[in-house]
Amino acid sequence: MHIVEHLIAGRWSAGGDLSNVIDPFIGKPVASFPAATPHEVAAAVAGARAVQPDWAATAPAARAEALRAAANAVEQATDVLARTMSAEMGKPEAEAAGSIAAGVGTLRQYAELGQLHSGRTLGGDPGALDLMVREPRGVVAAITPWNDPVAVSCGLLGAALATGNAVVYKPSERTPATGWLLTKLLAPHVPPGVLSMLAGGGSTGAALAESAVDVVAHVGSTATGRAIAAAAARTGAKALLENGGCDPLIVDAGVDPAWAAAQAAVGAFANAGQICVSVERIYVHADIAEEFLTALVKEAAATEIGPLVDVRHRGGVHGQVVDAVDRGARLLAGGVIPDGPGAWYPPTVLAGCTDEMRVVETETFGPVAPVVTVASFDEALRCAARSPYGLAATVLTASMSNAHWAWQQLEVGTVKINAVFGGAPGGAAHPRRGSGQGFGYGPELLDEMTATKVVHLESPPGGW
Ligand code: NAD
Repeated sequence: MHIVEHLIAGRWSAGGDLSNVIDPFIGKPVASFPAATPHEVAAAVAGARAVQPDWAATAPAARAEALRAAANAVEQATDVLARTMSAEMGKPEAEAAGSIAAGVGTLRQYAELGQLHSGRTLGGDPGALDLMVREPRGVVAAITPWNDPVAVSCGLLGAALATGNAVVYKPSERTPATGWLLTKLLAPHVPPGVLSMLAGGGSTGAALAESAVDVVAHVGSTATGRAIAAAAARTGAKALLENGGCDPLIVDAGVDPAWAAAQAAVGAFANAGQICVSVERIYVHADIAEEFLTALVKEAAATEIGPLVDVRHRGGVHGQVVDAVDRGARLLAGGVIPDGPGAWYPPTVLAGCTDEMRVVETETFGPVAPVVTVASFDEALRCAARSPYGLAATVLTASMSNAHWAWQQLEVGTVKINAVFGGAPGGAAHPRRGSGQGFGYGPELLDEMTATKVVHLESPPGGW
């Protein structure tokens, strides 16, 4: 059992009252963690503020070297990190190791890209020098979720540190030991105070979002993102938000229903549906709906998944399924809470859904595939567009014109045609509406972590 501590201004400290994290496989405690008080939040921010100028003045190549060493340390600790992540949030260990490898890769990318990240010179008066210079923003609060805790944290921390910012990191209260272990691996490679870590839940996060930081970078739910945006508006900090989604999958007439069902199953059930870009609602053309549903039920039966993060979250997921059935949806697979310990929930298929059902309208974040049958491709596009979210969307179609029409019409950050997951390295998108704002990943995250200053330099009359 891990006992999590805070790292404040270079010193590890135990907290007062502890809360437990329960292993969702077996229902037993795996870690306990304190909640940082507003006083501890202020101390971490002040500590970061004090050392940030020196970190900013460190040569980018030296910062890159520190990040490379930190990435190696995380890689070497993959086993213990994967075990802890798995026990805290339910991702099977092999998948957890895969997402740690992704985090290590991200740290290495930012180590290299951070050194190359620079401004430019402008073509003004030949006697003057005009520059656009990138400067670190200062102190970055990084507030992260539990569903991919290492990879997401490595992204925000790597980009912030590579560009000369100090970071106050608050991992999710559902994966505090994972965040604490990650901090123990990263912090020794940067000067004391450059990386602090605060354990705790929403009230610690809120205190951090309201504190005197320069950026609040949040990956998490839409409701939290909105609260953070409001706090940042009061303090003047920049809010960078990667939030929830309710991604549609559109299945056009004329595609192979078995292939489409396999795509839908991966999209809806991977990581037990707890991915920001999981398939959350499916619009299938009436011409192939029946065959598609038959194949999807087979896929659900053949899919093995880990448990949900905890029984509280499972209650929310199941509540949406029950609500849909009450409103007339047909339960074709899953939808029943199994007996026994842990937070298990089966891959679930609902047919006959409508856009008014909560399971279609809002993010479910569970292994649920709600299927709406539509009469045309255009109707599917219209339904997909009616959403307060705008994270990503997938279209399965054999028609080139429908493919092009769809990516132009869908007002979301990422559009995928004929593959639910995938994309070239380096792709980064702006989420729309309730799904957030700014670039939360990719090379452009380095832009977000820096402020641009324009310099115009002339010599005094008579020369220097
Ligand atoms: P969450 O917003 O509840 O929690 C995320 C973090 O915010 C945690 O550290 C939490 O303690 C903190 N927090 C909670 N209330 C706060 C407040 N009032 N002020 C400041 N901080 C607060 O989200 P979650 O349940 O941990 O994560 C799941 C959500 O994250 C889903 O909606 C998912 O779609 C989203 N997500 C989005 C992306 C993306 O890239 N868009 C990636 C991963 C997860």
